[in-house]
Amino acid sequence: MHVELHQRYRELPAAREAQDLIRACVHCGFCTATCPTYLELGDERDGPRGRIHLLMQVLEGGPVSERTQRHLDRCLTCRSCETTCPSGVRYGRLADIGRGLLEQRVPRRRLTRLQRWLLRKVIPNRRLFGMLTGVGYAFRPVLPAALKAKLPERRRPGRLPAPRHERRMLLLDACAQAAATPATNAAAIRVLDRLGIHLESVPGAGCCGAISQHLSAHDEALDHMRRNIDAWWPAIELGAEAVVSTASGCGLMLKEYGPLLASDPGYAGKAAKISELALDLAEVVAAEDLELLAASSTERIAVHVPCTLYHGLRQPGLVQDILQRTGFDLAETSEPHLCCGSAGTYSILQPELSRRLAARKLEALSISGPDLIATANVGCQIQLSGVSDRPVGHWVELLDR
Ligand code: SF4
Ligand code: SF4
Repeated sequence: MHVELHQRYRELPAAREAQDLIRACVHCGFCTATCPTYLELGDERDGPRGRIHLLMQVLEGGPVSERTQRHLDRCLTCRSCETTCPSGVRYGRLADIGRGLLEQRVPRRRLTRLQRWLLRKVIPNRRLFGMLTGVGYAFRPVLPAALKAKLPERRRPGRLPAPRHERRMLLLDACAQAAATPATNAAAIRVLDRLGIHLESVPGAGCCGAISQHLSAHDEALDHMRRNIDAWWPAIELGAEAVVSTASGCGLMLKEYGPLLASDPGYAGKAAKISELALDLAEVVAAEDLELLAASSTERIAVHVPCTLYHGLRQPGLVQDILQRTGFDLAETSEPHLCCGSAGTYSILQPELSRRLAARKLEALSISGPDLIATANVGCQIQLSGVSDRPVGHWVELLDR
């Protein structure tokens, strides 16, 4: 599709990048059938092809309004459309750029701006988020059901092994994920220890930047990335093999450090190196000797693969493969490509649609009556815990038991 950039965007590199991305789209509509929001709402403007048309309007300087913004906001950035698209359209990147440009043309209401600002300030701040979560647990019995659903079952992290291996990897562990489900990172440290790898945290690193990036605060996201690079770089120079994330959403963000900082002369090279070293925990574990983790379990596990792992990192079967190879019994599921409705801050900003998607996902995961649900991202874990009667946890906790 051809886009005639409006005069105000002609010299803007991001707008030119979006123009190139749209050029790849042939308007075939194959992607529509696998878009969760289109499947729920049945409106072309709530599917990828319609949204690409809206983004074209933004780039060409056409009429845009709060309605345009609403259709683009309803996108989960799940990238299911990217997996389906025969022309390789990178919709996720296109949506990021387009929403950023639209933000400048359609100012949000004051209350929405405040809400989005608070999300950007609270979620990436481990201490503040941890404190609020602690208060939430203390008052859990009297909380409204919607808030109670956002508090996952509290599991103790347990004891950690002392460093004893030469092989070292860095753990991304300084944001909401570590505060909300601390048992996950502790389990990852113990499991990698059994595989002969020391997984360590580095002081000074923090949020990967995904929350800011997806809320169109792109400069703030780049600041998070630069701070992390500065914190990790000495350990990388000393031979750390990888930067590992136990939340696939954060792992995907790390892969994008290189492209997003490519025009920053001070960080481009280092950012590209971080992206090269970035691995989701499943990618690390799958490459090791899984006999060391052999388990014996009679429980049947339904696996929900987060969109960031399924479509973003293109690893739709890795977690299932690890669990099967280590002796777990997998339950049949359906619609594995569809998002659970968590999608970063989506469940807070689009609660109604998010609830519908969570209910649909739970049904798809429950078709053969599993004993528990395993996933690979903290957001999905919290989302599914809120609607499921069965236990929901991170897959690595199964290997750690
Ligand atoms: S499948 Fe790809 S080429 Fe076809 S409409 Fe969707 S984004 Fe465009
Ligand atoms: S990213 Fe997901 S929600 Fe957004 S248009 Fe693509 S398939 Fe639909």
